[in-house]
Amino acid sequence: MQVPILTYHGVNIAGNDYDGNDHVAFAADLELIHQLGLRIVPVQWVIDRLLGRSERDLNGCVALTCDDGSNFDYYDLDHPVHGLQQGFFSALLDFRRRHGRDAQPDLHLTAFVIADPAARARMDTACLVGRNWMQQEWWRPAQASGLIGIENHSWDHNHPCLDSPGPHDLARGDFFAVANEAQAEFEIEQAQRYIAAQISPQVPRLFCYPFGHVNSFLKDDWLPRRGEQVGLDAAFGDGAVPASLHSERWNVPRYICGWHWKTPDALREILAATLG
Ligand SMILES: [Zn+2]
Repeated sequence: MQVPILTYHGVNIAGNDYDGNDHVAFAADLELIHQLGLRIVPVQWVIDRLLGRSERDLNGCVALTCDDGSNFDYYDLDHPVHGLQQGFFSALLDFRRRHGRDAQPDLHLTAFVIADPAARARMDTACLVGRNWMQQEWWRPAQASGLIGIENHSWDHNHPCLDSPGPHDLARGDFFAVANEAQAEFEIEQAQRYIAAQISPQVPRLFCYPFGHVNSFLKDDWLPRRGEQVGLDAAFGDGAVPASLHSERWNVPRYICGWHWKTPDALREILAATLG
């Protein structure tokens, strides 16, 4: 198994070109992946294979994820500077309309969302444009569509816009700081419970580290001990290699759009090198 896991950020909108706009990139990448004859599958399938729960053949497969759970994941929104943006969900629907259901029967995007409504409201004013674009009312319909899965991107991202220190003496600003029992329960377990309540009967089973910050306490101690107890199957970092049967369960690698690739050609290289 060699499955590249690609990651997009709905809030990355610095213009309307591929480089600098993750929505333009996402729509183009769906086409590229399809043209190359690759199959898009839910990232949960990769984890099921990694954990030996399934024998699915994932050769020639790619998985898609997006981070931070802004409204751009689900809605088309009018950006104040760069105009109307097609959200990820509508890009998936568009792809389906153009190619038919059989083209990518397992088409799926995993959205890692931030749980705490108060933290999301703070980010909406501090980092976005204060138009309530960090809401949660779309989580359930997104999940119900079958095209998007809602998963855990922590309680509040331990974001620099939050008052520091936070609860449990947590210094704000990066996720390396989440380094003791109480802080891990606060950031990860609490988010598991909150998100589960919003999307029930579904439950979140995957976690991804905010900022891609993976520390040894979480990866080697807390998650191996507490992960399954809080309902988690795996955690994702940004290792920029394909996921394989040798991937670390609590630090499964992903490629980040705008960082590990900025052009369709660079993505083509990632896909070609890993899929032969
Ligand atoms: Zn994030």
